[in-house]
Amino acid sequence: MKISEWILGCIYPARCVVCDGVIGLKSGNVCPGCVEKLSVMEGFHCGYCGKFIDREEEEYCDDCRRFCHIFDEGYGVFPYSGWVKDSMMRFKFHGRKEYGEFYGRAMAAAGEGRIRRWKPQVIIPVPMYRKKERMRGYNQADVLARNLGKHTELPVRTDLVKRVHETKPQKELTRDMRRKNLAGAFAVENHAGSYSRVLLVDDIYTTGSTADAVASGLKQKGVNSVFVMTACTGHGF
Ligand SMILES: [Zn+2]
Ligand SMILES: [Zn+2]
Repeated sequence: MKISEWILGCIYPARCVVCDGVIGLKSGNVCPGCVEKLSVMEGFHCGYCGKFIDREEEEYCDDCRRFCHIFDEGYGVFPYSGWVKDSMMRFKFHGRKEYGEFYGRAMAAAGEGRIRRWKPQVIIPVPMYRKKERMRGYNQADVLARNLGKHTELPVRTDLVKRVHETKPQKELTRDMRRKNLAGAFAVENHAGSYSRVLLVDDIYTTGSTADAVASGLKQKGVNSVFVMTACTGHGF
């Protein structure tokens, strides 16, 4: 370990992504007591959007049986509940940018088969409105995309899709309202059309409205397939 890393480790000790306890200078992002919690992450995923479903035989979640998406296929690694919810809060709002290393690595490992099948040429993080990003200090989707890119050796482009409007928080909105809320929120560069297969990266997947809005913009510029990978995803029973 370099001396500068050691000093930095003393000032900003690594924290466990699960419980936020200080890990110290040891490598890894999860403390020994929390490793067990990671082993219960297995589950069945919707074959279309990647949400967790109860039984494998169902194949698709309720959402996907009723609605079509614009993106081609999605996958989320962790269920958005329990410790993951708290961890995501800290990652997004409380400066735990370092968690991105863990989640990016988890996405690369758990999504390996899908990435091989999808064959994306580029990773694009879902952009954040510039003013919001300045206030927060970073865009968590960006951090995830860069970490995923590092492990998959795929290029990351943050210049092709921009968020041009501040949008209301999506949480309280219905599906229809979400779509309207996002209309015109993203601007896509013409150059994006030079890629035919794009992997869109975000922190959380809920209804897919954001992914659809960006996928729609990309496809209008000539992109053929848009895949979506998120650190966590809801339960779409
Ligand atoms: Zn822990
Ligand atoms: Zn689904």
